Amino acid sequence: MSVCPWFKDGYCSSPLLDYPSADVVNKVYCLGGPELYTRCRLYREPRPIKEGGYDEFGKPFLMVHGLDKAPEALCEFMKVFKHEQGKYLAGCLVLKRFLGIHEVNLCSNFWKQCPYRKLGLKLGTPT
Ligand code: SF4
Ligand code: SF4
Repeated sequence: MSVCPWFKDGYCSSPLLDYPSADVVNKVYCLGGPELYTRCRLYREPRPIKEGGYDEFGKPFLMVHGLDKAPEALCEFMKVFKHEQGKYLAGCLVLKRFLGIHEVNLCSNFWKQCPYRKLGLKLGTPT
């Protein structure tokens, strides 16, 4: 039985919550496979990981932008790609560039406070 992608170590990490919470977890739904967890009010489709087609962000430099694993892409303005050399890349649709390794950590943890995200939300929905 597959587990909800937002279920992590007994916590729900849904982007609709301000902080991961164990209080909202209902194991029947969270661990009950897609037919159940997609019905949860806190469920959202995770951002897809794309292969190639990232010209909009310019040329990536793996030393600066290459990630060993796919990041937590909770911000709606983050796009995640898999590079042909096995690394992952994250681009910001507001900044219109790839994010450096340390920036990605900040985005994954503090996306709700990000000023660029606030600007992006004012300008319109991401594509
Ligand atoms: S099913 Fe709902 S509560 Fe459970 S982890 Fe997924 S989004 Fe969170
Ligand atoms: S810089 Fe801000 S808007 Fe861009 S991906 Fe990161 S959190 Fe989202």
